[in-house]
Amino acid sequence: MNERELLMIPGPIEFDPAVIRAMTVHLPGHMAPDFIQVFGRALDGLKQVFLAPEDSQPFVVAGSGTLAMDMAAANLIEPGDRALVVNTGFFSDRFAAICARYGATVDQLTAELGDVVPMEQIADSLARHKYKLVTVTHVDTSTGVRMDVSELGRIARQNGALSVVDGVCATAGEEFRQAGWDIDIYLTASQKAVGVPPGLALLVASRQALEAFQARKTPVANYYADWANWLPIMQAYQARRPSYFATPAVNLVAALDVSVGQILAEGMEARFRRHQVISDAFKAAITALELKQVPVRPEIAANTLTAIYYPDGVDAGLLGRIRKHGVVVAGGLHPRIRDRYFRVGHMGVVSASDVLATVGAIERALAESGYALKEGDGLAAAQSILTAL
Ligand code: PMP
Repeated sequence: MNERELLMIPGPIEFDPAVIRAMTVHLPGHMAPDFIQVFGRALDGLKQVFLAPEDSQPFVVAGSGTLAMDMAAANLIEPGDRALVVNTGFFSDRFAAICARYGATVDQLTAELGDVVPMEQIADSLARHKYKLVTVTHVDTSTGVRMDVSELGRIARQNGALSVVDGVCATAGEEFRQAGWDIDIYLTASQKAVGVPPGLALLVASRQALEAFQARKTPVANYYADWANWLPIMQAYQARRPSYFATPAVNLVAALDVSVGQILAEGMEARFRRHQVISDAFKAAITALELKQVPVRPEIAANTLTAIYYPDGVDAGLLGRIRKHGVVVAGGLHPRIRDRYFRVGHMGVVSASDVLATVGAIERALAESGYALKEGDGLAAAQSILTAL
Protein backbone atom coordinates (compact mmCIF):
# COMPACT_ATOMS: atom_id res chain seq x y z
CA MET A 1 0.00 0.00 0.00
CA ASN A 2 1.36 3.42 -0.97
CA GLU A 3 0.94 5.65 2.06
CA ARG A 4 0.96 8.78 -0.10
CA GLU A 5 -2.06 7.77 -2.15
CA LEU A 6 -4.96 10.20 -1.90
CA LEU A 7 -8.16 8.33 -1.05
CA MET A 8 -11.08 9.89 -2.96
CA ILE A 9 -13.70 7.15 -2.69
CA PRO A 10 -17.16 7.68 -1.16
CA GLY A 11 -16.01 6.27 2.18
CA PRO A 12 -13.94 5.44 4.01
CA ILE A 13 -12.37 8.83 3.43
CA GLU A 14 -9.08 10.50 4.33
CA PHE A 15 -9.00 11.14 8.08
CA ASP A 16 -7.56 14.11 9.91
CA PRO A 17 -4.28 13.18 11.69
CA ALA A 18 -5.65 14.47 15.02
CA VAL A 19 -8.59 12.05 14.69
CA ILE A 20 -6.25 9.12 14.03
CA ARG A 21 -4.01 10.14 16.93
CA ALA A 22 -7.00 10.13 19.27
CA MET A 23 -7.40 6.41 18.57
CA THR A 24 -3.89 5.63 19.69
CA VAL A 25 -3.76 7.39 23.06
CA HIS A 26 -3.95 5.25 26.16
CA LEU A 27 -7.59 4.72 27.08
CA PRO A 28 -8.26 3.28 30.49
CA GLY A 29 -11.50 1.44 29.69
CA HIS A 30 -15.15 2.15 29.15
CA MET A 31 -15.95 2.85 32.83
CA ALA A 32 -13.05 5.24 33.49
CA PRO A 33 -13.80 8.90 34.29
CA ASP A 34 -11.84 10.22 31.28
CA PHE A 35 -13.75 8.02 28.88
CA ILE A 36 -17.09 8.96 30.41
CA GLN A 37 -16.34 12.61 29.62
CA VAL A 38 -15.25 11.75 26.07
CA PHE A 39 -18.32 9.63 25.32
CA GLY A 40 -20.73 12.12 26.89
CA ARG A 41 -19.24 14.99 24.89
CA ALA A 42 -19.33 12.99 21.65
CA LEU A 43 -23.02 12.15 22.16
CA ASP A 44 -23.95 15.76 22.92
CA GLY A 45 -21.86 16.99 19.98
CA LEU A 46 -23.49 14.53 17.59
CA LYS A 47 -26.89 16.13 18.26
CA GLN A 48 -25.41 19.49 17.26
CA VAL A 49 -23.93 18.03 14.06
CA PHE A 50 -27.37 16.66 13.17
CA LEU A 51 -28.97 20.03 14.16
CA ALA A 52 -31.28 17.78 16.17
CA PRO A 53 -34.02 18.77 18.62
CA GLU A 54 -33.17 19.22 22.29
CA ASP A 55 -35.32 16.22 23.32
CA SER A 56 -33.84 13.83 20.72
CA GLN A 57 -31.74 10.81 21.67
CA PRO A 58 -28.35 10.02 20.12
CA PHE A 59 -27.11 6.42 19.85
CA VAL A 60 -23.46 5.54 19.14
CA VAL A 61 -22.94 1.80 18.84
CA ALA A 62 -20.07 -0.34 17.54
CA GLY A 63 -20.99 -1.47 14.05
CA SER A 64 -21.23 -0.07 10.53
CA GLY A 65 -23.89 2.01 8.82
CA THR A 66 -25.91 -1.10 8.09
CA LEU A 67 -26.30 -1.59 11.85
CA ALA A 68 -27.72 1.93 12.11
CA MET A 69 -30.29 1.02 9.43
CA ASP A 70 -30.97 -2.27 11.21
CA MET A 71 -31.42 -0.45 14.52
CA ALA A 72 -33.97 1.97 13.06
CA ALA A 73 -36.05 -0.81 11.51
CA ALA A 74 -35.71 -3.30 14.39
CA ASN A 75 -36.90 -0.79 16.98
CA LEU A 76 -39.70 0.85 15.02
CA ILE A 77 -41.22 -1.97 12.98
CA GLU A 78 -43.53 -4.64 14.38
CA PRO A 79 -44.71 -7.58 12.33
CA GLY A 80 -47.60 -6.51 10.13
CA ASP A 81 -46.61 -2.83 9.98
CA ARG A 82 -46.45 -1.17 6.61
CA ALA A 83 -43.24 0.58 5.49
CA LEU A 84 -42.71 2.86 2.50
CA VAL A 85 -39.23 2.76 0.98
CA VAL A 86 -38.28 5.55 -1.39
CA ASN A 87 -35.82 3.75 -3.63
CA THR A 88 -33.04 5.64 -5.39
CA GLY A 89 -30.55 2.77 -5.67
CA PHE A 90 -28.40 0.16 -4.01
CA PHE A 91 -28.79 1.18 -0.35
CA SER A 92 -32.54 1.76 -0.66
CA ASP A 93 -32.82 -1.87 -1.80
CA ARG A 94 -31.00 -2.77 1.41
CA PHE A 95 -33.41 -0.73 3.55
CA ALA A 96 -36.36 -2.48 1.93
CA ALA A 97 -34.80 -5.87 2.73
CA ILE A 98 -34.15 -4.85 6.34
CA CYS A 99 -37.72 -3.59 6.87
CA ALA A 100 -39.09 -6.80 5.40
CA ARG A 101 -36.83 -8.85 7.70
CA TYR A 102 -38.62 -7.37 10.75
CA GLY A 103 -42.02 -8.30 9.38
CA ALA A 104 -43.07 -5.14 7.55
CA THR A 105 -45.14 -5.13 4.41
CA VAL A 106 -42.89 -3.00 2.21
CA ASP A 107 -44.11 -0.76 -0.60
CA GLN A 108 -41.49 0.94 -2.75
CA LEU A 109 -41.49 4.09 -4.81
CA THR A 110 -38.62 3.52 -7.20
CA ALA A 111 -36.89 6.36 -9.03
CA GLU A 112 -35.65 6.11 -12.59
CA LEU A 113 -31.91 5.44 -12.59
CA GLY A 114 -30.13 8.69 -11.73
CA ASP A 115 -33.32 10.47 -10.74
CA VAL A 116 -35.22 11.14 -7.50
CA VAL A 117 -38.80 10.39 -6.44
CA PRO A 118 -40.83 13.64 -6.38
CA MET A 119 -42.05 14.64 -2.91
CA GLU A 120 -45.66 14.87 -4.23
CA GLN A 121 -45.55 11.18 -5.10
CA ILE A 122 -44.32 10.35 -1.59
CA ALA A 123 -47.06 12.54 -0.07
CA ASP A 124 -49.60 10.77 -2.24
CA SER A 125 -48.56 7.31 -1.09
CA LEU A 126 -48.41 8.34 2.57
CA ALA A 127 -51.95 9.71 2.30
CA ARG A 128 -53.25 6.54 0.64
CA HIS A 129 -52.10 3.96 3.23
CA LYS A 130 -51.33 3.94 6.93
CA TYR A 131 -47.54 3.60 7.05
CA LYS A 132 -45.53 3.10 10.24
CA LEU A 133 -42.53 4.70 8.60
CA VAL A 134 -41.06 6.00 5.38
CA THR A 135 -37.37 5.63 4.54
CA VAL A 136 -35.36 7.84 2.22
CA THR A 137 -31.67 7.58 1.27
CA HIS A 138 -30.41 11.16 1.59
CA VAL A 139 -27.52 10.64 -0.82
CA ASP A 140 -27.56 7.44 -2.82
CA THR A 141 -23.95 6.31 -2.94
CA SER A 142 -24.59 4.16 -6.01
CA THR A 143 -25.91 7.00 -8.21
CA GLY A 144 -24.67 10.22 -6.61
CA VAL A 145 -28.27 11.42 -6.39
CA ARG A 146 -29.44 13.53 -3.44
CA MET A 147 -33.06 13.58 -2.28
CA ASP A 148 -34.34 16.90 -0.93
CA VAL A 149 -35.73 15.79 2.44
CA SER A 150 -36.58 19.25 3.78
CA GLU A 151 -40.35 18.60 3.47
CA LEU A 152 -40.31 14.86 4.23
CA GLY A 153 -40.67 15.10 8.01
CA ARG A 154 -43.67 17.41 7.92
CA ILE A 155 -45.44 15.36 5.24
CA ALA A 156 -44.80 12.11 7.12
CA ARG A 157 -46.00 13.64 10.40
CA GLN A 158 -49.23 14.92 8.79
CA ASN A 159 -49.92 11.35 7.68
CA GLY A 160 -49.02 9.68 10.97
CA ALA A 161 -45.83 8.07 9.68
CA LEU A 162 -42.31 8.28 11.08
CA SER A 163 -39.59 9.59 8.76
CA VAL A 164 -36.27 7.75 8.58
CA VAL A 165 -33.39 9.19 6.57
CA ASP A 166 -30.26 7.19 5.72
CA GLY A 167 -27.55 9.83 5.84
CA VAL A 168 -24.60 7.46 5.57
CA CYS A 169 -23.21 9.22 2.49
CA ALA A 170 -24.49 12.67 3.47
CA THR A 171 -24.33 13.46 7.20
CA ALA A 172 -21.93 16.29 8.09
CA GLY A 173 -21.49 17.12 4.40
CA GLU A 174 -24.95 17.81 2.99
CA GLU A 175 -27.29 20.35 4.53
CA PHE A 176 -29.51 18.59 7.04
CA ARG A 177 -31.59 20.02 9.89
CA GLN A 178 -33.22 17.29 11.94
CA ALA A 179 -35.10 19.72 14.19
CA GLY A 180 -36.02 22.25 11.49
CA TRP A 181 -37.16 19.54 9.08
CA ASP A 182 -38.86 17.41 11.76
CA ILE A 183 -37.14 14.15 10.77
CA ASP A 184 -37.61 11.26 13.22
CA ILE A 185 -34.45 9.28 12.54
CA TYR A 186 -31.23 10.43 10.92
CA LEU A 187 -28.54 7.79 10.78
CA THR A 188 -25.03 7.45 9.48
CA ALA A 189 -21.71 5.63 9.87
CA SER A 190 -18.43 6.99 11.15
CA GLN A 191 -16.31 6.50 8.02
CA LYS A 192 -17.80 9.08 5.69
CA ALA A 193 -18.24 12.84 6.14
CA VAL A 194 -18.24 12.42 9.94
CA GLY A 195 -14.53 11.66 9.47
CA VAL A 196 -13.81 8.71 11.78
CA PRO A 197 -12.48 5.28 10.70
CA PRO A 198 -15.12 2.59 10.06
CA GLY A 199 -16.77 0.92 13.05
CA LEU A 200 -19.41 3.18 14.56
CA ALA A 201 -23.13 3.27 13.78
CA LEU A 202 -24.53 6.74 14.58
CA LEU A 203 -28.21 7.53 14.93
CA VAL A 204 -30.34 10.28 16.45
CA ALA A 205 -33.98 9.51 17.24
CA SER A 206 -36.72 12.07 17.81
CA ARG A 207 -39.01 12.04 20.87
CA GLN A 208 -41.80 10.73 18.61
CA ALA A 209 -39.62 7.83 17.42
CA LEU A 210 -38.83 6.89 21.01
CA GLU A 211 -42.53 7.07 21.90
CA ALA A 212 -43.32 4.73 19.02
CA PHE A 213 -40.65 2.36 20.32
CA GLN A 214 -42.05 2.54 23.85
CA ALA A 215 -45.56 1.80 22.56
CA ARG A 216 -44.46 -1.50 20.96
CA LYS A 217 -46.56 -4.55 21.73
CA THR A 218 -43.87 -7.04 20.73
CA PRO A 219 -40.22 -7.32 21.79
CA VAL A 220 -37.52 -6.09 19.41
CA ALA A 221 -36.37 -9.10 17.38
CA ASN A 222 -32.71 -8.03 17.37
CA TYR A 223 -31.01 -8.33 20.76
CA TYR A 224 -27.90 -6.23 20.03
CA ALA A 225 -29.83 -3.41 18.34
CA ASP A 226 -32.63 -3.22 20.94
CA TRP A 227 -33.01 0.34 22.28
CA ALA A 228 -34.21 -1.17 25.55
CA ASN A 229 -30.59 -2.23 26.02
CA TRP A 230 -28.95 0.94 24.69
CA LEU A 231 -31.17 3.76 25.90
CA PRO A 232 -30.06 3.58 29.57
CA ILE A 233 -26.41 3.40 28.46
CA MET A 234 -26.58 6.46 26.22
CA GLN A 235 -28.50 8.41 28.83
CA ALA A 236 -25.96 7.47 31.50
CA TYR A 237 -22.98 8.66 29.45
CA GLN A 238 -24.84 11.86 28.60
CA ALA A 239 -25.29 12.36 32.36
CA ARG A 240 -21.52 11.62 32.70
CA ARG A 241 -22.13 8.35 34.55
CA PRO A 242 -20.61 4.97 33.62
CA SER A 243 -22.86 2.20 32.42
CA TYR A 244 -22.51 -1.08 30.56
CA PHE A 245 -24.54 -3.15 28.15
CA ALA A 246 -21.96 -4.16 25.53
CA THR A 247 -18.41 -2.87 25.32
CA PRO A 248 -18.20 0.39 23.41
CA ALA A 249 -15.50 0.83 20.75
CA VAL A 250 -13.54 3.13 23.07
CA ASN A 251 -10.82 4.13 20.58
CA LEU A 252 -13.35 4.99 17.90
CA VAL A 253 -15.47 6.95 20.36
CA ALA A 254 -12.35 8.94 21.31
CA ALA A 255 -11.78 9.65 17.61
CA LEU A 256 -15.44 10.62 17.21
CA ASP A 257 -15.11 13.11 20.05
CA VAL A 258 -12.20 14.82 18.24
CA SER A 259 -13.88 14.76 14.84
CA VAL A 260 -17.18 16.12 16.16
CA GLY A 261 -15.20 18.89 17.88
CA GLN A 262 -13.55 19.76 14.55
CA ILE A 263 -16.87 19.70 12.69
CA LEU A 264 -18.52 22.01 15.22
CA ALA A 265 -15.47 24.32 15.22
CA GLU A 266 -15.85 24.70 11.46
CA GLY A 267 -19.58 25.29 11.97
CA MET A 268 -22.36 23.43 10.19
CA GLU A 269 -23.26 26.26 7.79
CA ALA A 270 -19.61 26.75 6.77
CA ARG A 271 -19.24 22.99 6.39
CA PHE A 272 -22.31 22.65 4.15
CA ARG A 273 -21.00 25.51 2.01
CA ARG A 274 -17.47 24.07 1.73
CA HIS A 275 -18.89 20.76 0.52
CA GLN A 276 -21.04 22.63 -2.01
CA VAL A 277 -18.08 24.62 -3.41
CA ILE A 278 -15.79 21.56 -3.54
CA SER A 279 -18.50 19.60 -5.34
CA ASP A 280 -19.31 22.44 -7.76
CA ALA A 281 -15.62 22.77 -8.63
CA PHE A 282 -15.13 19.05 -9.20
CA LYS A 283 -18.32 18.76 -11.26
CA ALA A 284 -17.34 21.80 -13.33
CA ALA A 285 -14.07 20.01 -14.15
CA ILE A 286 -15.93 16.84 -15.15
CA THR A 287 -18.25 18.87 -17.40
CA ALA A 288 -15.29 20.75 -18.94
CA LEU A 289 -13.80 17.35 -19.81
CA GLU A 290 -17.11 16.54 -21.54
CA LEU A 291 -17.89 13.61 -19.25
CA LYS A 292 -21.49 12.79 -18.34
CA GLN A 293 -22.72 12.29 -14.79
CA VAL A 294 -25.21 9.68 -13.56
CA PRO A 295 -27.65 12.14 -11.88
CA VAL A 296 -29.98 13.30 -14.63
CA ARG A 297 -30.10 16.96 -13.47
CA PRO A 298 -27.41 19.06 -11.74
CA GLU A 299 -29.73 20.15 -8.93
CA ILE A 300 -30.23 16.56 -7.71
CA ALA A 301 -26.50 15.72 -7.73
CA ALA A 302 -24.95 15.21 -4.29
CA ASN A 303 -22.19 17.40 -2.85
CA THR A 304 -20.43 14.46 -1.20
CA LEU A 305 -19.62 12.44 -4.32
CA THR A 306 -19.73 12.52 -8.11
CA ALA A 307 -20.79 9.56 -10.27
CA ILE A 308 -19.32 9.77 -13.79
CA TYR A 309 -19.89 7.65 -16.91
CA TYR A 310 -16.78 6.48 -18.73
CA PRO A 311 -16.60 8.16 -22.13
CA ASP A 312 -16.83 6.01 -25.27
CA GLY A 313 -13.75 3.84 -25.70
CA VAL A 314 -12.74 4.04 -22.03
CA ASP A 315 -13.45 1.34 -19.44
CA ALA A 316 -12.71 0.50 -15.80
CA GLY A 317 -9.02 0.27 -16.71
CA LEU A 318 -9.14 4.03 -16.13
CA LEU A 319 -9.24 3.49 -12.37
CA GLY A 320 -5.83 1.78 -12.34
CA ARG A 321 -4.37 4.61 -14.42
CA ILE A 322 -5.77 7.24 -12.04
CA ARG A 323 -4.25 5.28 -9.17
CA LYS A 324 -0.83 5.31 -10.85
CA HIS A 325 -1.05 9.07 -10.53
CA GLY A 326 -1.56 8.73 -6.79
CA VAL A 327 -5.34 9.05 -6.45
CA VAL A 328 -7.76 6.27 -5.54
CA VAL A 329 -11.30 6.53 -6.88
CA ALA A 330 -14.13 3.95 -6.79
CA GLY A 331 -15.77 1.82 -9.46
CA GLY A 332 -19.50 1.54 -10.10
CA LEU A 333 -21.94 0.06 -7.59
CA HIS A 334 -25.42 0.23 -9.10
CA PRO A 335 -26.06 -3.24 -10.55
CA ARG A 336 -27.61 -1.89 -13.78
CA ILE A 337 -24.60 0.23 -14.78
CA ARG A 338 -21.80 -1.14 -12.60
CA ASP A 339 -19.21 -1.36 -15.42
CA ARG A 340 -20.13 1.89 -17.13
CA TYR A 341 -19.22 4.51 -14.52
CA PHE A 342 -16.94 5.42 -11.64
CA ARG A 343 -17.36 7.39 -8.44
CA VAL A 344 -15.29 10.05 -6.73
CA GLY A 345 -15.93 10.94 -3.09
CA HIS A 346 -15.22 14.47 -1.87
CA MET A 347 -16.29 14.85 1.73
CA GLY A 348 -14.95 15.42 5.23
CA VAL A 349 -11.48 16.98 5.37
CA VAL A 350 -11.31 17.25 1.55
CA SER A 351 -9.51 20.40 0.39
CA ALA A 352 -9.23 22.49 -2.77
CA SER A 353 -5.80 20.94 -3.37
CA ASP A 354 -7.30 17.44 -3.14
CA VAL A 355 -9.79 18.38 -5.86
CA LEU A 356 -7.01 19.69 -8.10
CA ALA A 357 -4.86 16.61 -7.54
CA THR A 358 -7.82 14.39 -8.42
CA VAL A 359 -8.80 16.33 -11.55
CA GLY A 360 -5.16 16.34 -12.67
CA ALA A 361 -4.87 12.59 -12.20
CA ILE A 362 -8.14 11.99 -14.07
CA GLU A 363 -7.03 14.20 -16.97
CA ARG A 364 -3.72 12.37 -17.32
CA ALA A 365 -5.35 8.95 -17.04
CA LEU A 366 -7.98 9.87 -19.65
CA ALA A 367 -5.28 11.04 -22.06
CA GLU A 368 -3.40 7.75 -21.53
CA SER A 369 -6.65 5.89 -22.26
CA GLY A 370 -6.83 7.52 -25.69
CA TYR A 371 -9.58 10.01 -24.83
CA ALA A 372 -9.22 13.24 -26.77
CA LEU A 373 -9.11 16.15 -24.34
CA LYS A 374 -7.23 19.34 -23.80
CA GLU A 375 -5.26 18.70 -20.64
CA GLY A 376 -5.79 21.55 -18.22
CA ASP A 377 -9.41 22.30 -19.20
CA GLY A 378 -10.75 20.44 -16.15
CA LEU A 379 -8.20 22.06 -13.85
CA ALA A 380 -9.03 25.55 -15.11
CA ALA A 381 -12.76 24.97 -14.60
CA ALA A 382 -12.17 23.71 -11.05
CA GLN A 383 -9.78 26.55 -10.19
CA SER A 384 -12.27 29.19 -11.22
CA ILE A 385 -14.81 27.88 -8.69
CA LEU A 386 -12.39 27.01 -5.90
CA THR A 387 -11.53 30.69 -5.49
CA ALA A 388 -14.83 30.89 -3.58
CA LEU A 389 -13.23 28.94 -0.70
N1 PMP B 1 -26.35 3.62 3.23
C1 PMP B 1 -25.60 4.33 2.39
C2 PMP B 1 -26.21 5.48 1.66
C3 PMP B 1 -24.25 3.98 2.19
O1 PMP B 1 -23.50 4.69 1.35
C4 PMP B 1 -23.70 2.89 2.90
C5 PMP B 1 -22.25 2.48 2.75
N2 PMP B 1 -21.62 2.80 1.61
C6 PMP B 1 -24.54 2.19 3.77
C7 PMP B 1 -25.84 2.59 3.92
C8 PMP B 1 -24.03 1.02 4.54
O2 PMP B 1 -23.04 1.42 5.42
P1 PMP B 1 -21.91 0.40 5.91
O3 PMP B 1 -21.14 -0.02 4.71
O4 PMP B 1 -21.09 1.24 6.86
O5 PMP B 1 -22.61 -0.72 6.58
